[in-house]
Amino acid sequence: MSTLVDSFAAAARGYRALVTTAIEPWQTRGACRQVPTERFFSPDNERGRARDLRIRAAKSVCAHCPVLSRCRDHALRTREPYGVWGGLDEQERAELRRRSRYPARPA
Ligand code: SF4
Repeated sequence: MSTLVDSFAAAARGYRALVTTAIEPWQTRGACRQVPTERFFSPDNERGRARDLRIRAAKSVCAHCPVLSRCRDHALRTREPYGVWGGLDEQERAELRRRSRYPARPA
């Protein structure tokens, strides 16, 4: 079973942002370590109710995560383009960045 933390270093998933991001210590404490990566990232052609349910399930994991704020900060600063990070999906992060002009930081 692969997990979200595993995916930080997994080129096989094809997420360039993840591939280029080094694993930080807080990432090893994520509640998603025991959850399949697929819960956090949209498969090709996922739409509608299936997408909503998957995102809701991912966010329910994040809600109990001890490193939620670190994860969210990381995702916003590095402009992670895909998946649920820190309890936020792609659209929510984009909206937060737009509203707050969240400063970008190199990955
Ligand atoms: S906040 Fe969510 S995505 Fe981030 S480490 Fe925790 S469980 Fe994983």
